[in-house]
Amino acid sequence: MRIGLDLDGVCYNFERRARQVLEQHRGVSFPHGGSRDWNWIRDRVPSDDWAWMWKQISLLFEDESSWYPGAPSVMRQLCEENDVVVITSRPTRARGATKRALNHIGVVPAELHVLSYGVPKTTVPHCDVYVDDMPGNITGFLTWTTASVLVPRRHWNTDMEITGWEDRVRRYDNLKEVLEWARRAQ
Ligand SMILES: [Mg+2]
Repeated sequence: MRIGLDLDGVCYNFERRARQVLEQHRGVSFPHGGSRDWNWIRDRVPSDDWAWMWKQISLLFEDESSWYPGAPSVMRQLCEENDVVVITSRPTRARGATKRALNHIGVVPAELHVLSYGVPKTTVPHCDVYVDDMPGNITGFLTWTTASVLVPRRHWNTDMEITGWEDRVRRYDNLKEVLEWARRAQ
């Protein structure tokens, strides 16, 4: 099975990591729990700190403690049993750091796509199932592909409207459920 797997907000707790980096290195914080997307956070952080943060590619993306608990072992298992296509919206210069961070936890996906902000994930050859947390991406998959979409419950997607798509969307609490779903669907 070809699985399109997102990293930030799905496998990697990027919101928490960004918060740590800004607090520890710049003494800057942003409110908890209100973010709907990255623009929401950007609008609450001084612009020079925000610009600085995006230059700290290794600090941001190669922090081993930022994987969600249990995610690395589930990712390894998913890669063993499926064609895992990692599709992440990160600066393209983060490709090396992303690859190193995955290697470091023993995850070798079939493909790795690092797409600049704004490039739709549906530009990557389509998958049988997508795992993604962002409402905009989820809507894109539902509209432009025939795939199912597995969605981790996050505070930024809880009020997402999925009326009409119920048969293709499944929300989950633990990444392990993705592995179980993929095994059942084989
Ligand atoms: Mg994401």
